[in-house]
Amino acid sequence: MTTATVPMILAGEEVASSAAASITNPYTQKVVGECYQADAEQADKAVAAAASAFGVTRRMPRYRRAEILNSLADLIERDRAPLSRLIAEEAGKPLFDARGEVARAILNCRGAAEEAKRIAGHEVPLDMDGDVARYQSTVTTTDRGTVSGVDRRLAIAKLFPLGPILAIAPFNFPLNLTLHKVAPAIAAGNPVILKPSPQAPLTALHLGRLILEAGLPPESISVLPCDNAVAEQMVRDARIRMMSFTGSARVGWYLKSIAPKIRTTLELGGNGGVLIDETSDIEFAARRSARGANVYAGQYCIGVQRLIVHESRYEEFLERLLAEVAALKVGDPLEEATDLGPVIDERSATRIAGWIDEAARQGARVLTGGEREGAVVTPSVIVDTSRDMKVECEEIFGPVCTVKPYRDWDEGVALLNDSKYGLQAGIFTHDITRALGAMPDVESGGLMINDVPIFRVDNMPFGGVKDSGFGIEGTRYAIESMMQLKLVMMNG
Ligand code: NAD
Repeated sequence: MTTATVPMILAGEEVASSAAASITNPYTQKVVGECYQADAEQADKAVAAAASAFGVTRRMPRYRRAEILNSLADLIERDRAPLSRLIAEEAGKPLFDARGEVARAILNCRGAAEEAKRIAGHEVPLDMDGDVARYQSTVTTTDRGTVSGVDRRLAIAKLFPLGPILAIAPFNFPLNLTLHKVAPAIAAGNPVILKPSPQAPLTALHLGRLILEAGLPPESISVLPCDNAVAEQMVRDARIRMMSFTGSARVGWYLKSIAPKIRTTLELGGNGGVLIDETSDIEFAARRSARGANVYAGQYCIGVQRLIVHESRYEEFLERLLAEVAALKVGDPLEEATDLGPVIDERSATRIAGWIDEAARQGARVLTGGEREGAVVTPSVIVDTSRDMKVECEEIFGPVCTVKPYRDWDEGVALLNDSKYGLQAGIFTHDITRALGAMPDVESGGLMINDVPIFRVDNMPFGGVKDSGFGIEGTRYAIESMMQLKLVMMNG
């Protein structure tokens, strides 16, 4: 519990402002702390500083970028306990999962340090065709088509840092998803301005202080909690070269529309589908589905929402799933035994409970859960849903899953794909032909075979199709996305 107002980080300086916001623990509703909010002028200063710091970061050698990222990993390791606690307090994430997030953040930094050392361009062959080689080397009309000399030319495609990156982060992984943007930016040699989630900025500010302690040139990092108007001002600023956004589809696609000329990565939401066939290990599938739908109260972009089960195993699956869900302990995120705590705020809990009630009014059966108290919603399992109910077609982002039977495999795959989203999907089957055959057919950025979509290690390529996103993250891919591939041709 902090009492002093936490300063923002503006070009490496800890700075106050005339406005502050308080952050509450969603379980207890008690204030966890407060932080200053950047105003328009401060945001402008941060962008100007980032543009000027690019002159320094673009020349930073690989070993130095790697050293900074490894030092950052060491510092996060040092602060493992307070960071886990802060994530649990401000984001309401159970300690077990908050510790998992911190472990992933450490790996994220170490992975980015490794990639910083090995990320490189390539030679581009120029001598693949004699006619083209002779044509391109022509200098006068008399040597038409006779000169080549490609053996004395060398073309390389080299990666250069892109420039100031604006990173906009969601509340649900305030440390690790923030690092999905900041670590690759550092690895690539770019300055970065981080706009953290208003619901969980204290973790991001702690991270900002660690980045400075790790030795990043101070002017190249800003962490600016701010309102949407100030954030949009930065999105529209021509000095920003890339917006790396993680959050909801609604906000992400809107922000892309107001900044059509800058490079953009959008990591957005989903309504995670899982297909479970008659050959599956139903007990395992039910156990993983219960966790996949309810981990962090369902607030995973790749959380399980739609379970599609072969009709011959449907009743058995449902029975086991209900038993698994009943065994989950709902409570205070700061207690070790808690499986799931609150959602991020009471407004979200009210929306989730409202969608469940609406589905019930439209004919669905809520077999368990769906009661709300404060920001806590009890884990719910819903059947007899239809494709236009919000609990099925929208991203619910709460501890809710729907279960429906299917008749044959093709129908099952069609139901899995029947979504405007496509982030990560899961298929449970012991039929190898089906599993491999599904790879091209499932419309998603990632496919987990014999697991639920929540599985993620941070070096995996990660990005959605359809409404779920634009571009790819994952350490190596995020670094490449933050660099410019430049062709250099030398004529000896
Ligand atoms: P959100 O879209 O409400 O907010 C995300 C960020 O955008 C926040 O920092 C917010 O303050 C900012 N923002 C909102 N409106 C803005 C505006 N007009 N201008 C500038 N910035 C603005 O999302 P959230 O509730 O924080 O997070 C939950 C969402 O994030 C879910 O949809 C979830 O699926 C998604 N998510 C996706 C991934 C992924 O990798 N694909 C990971 C985690 C979360």
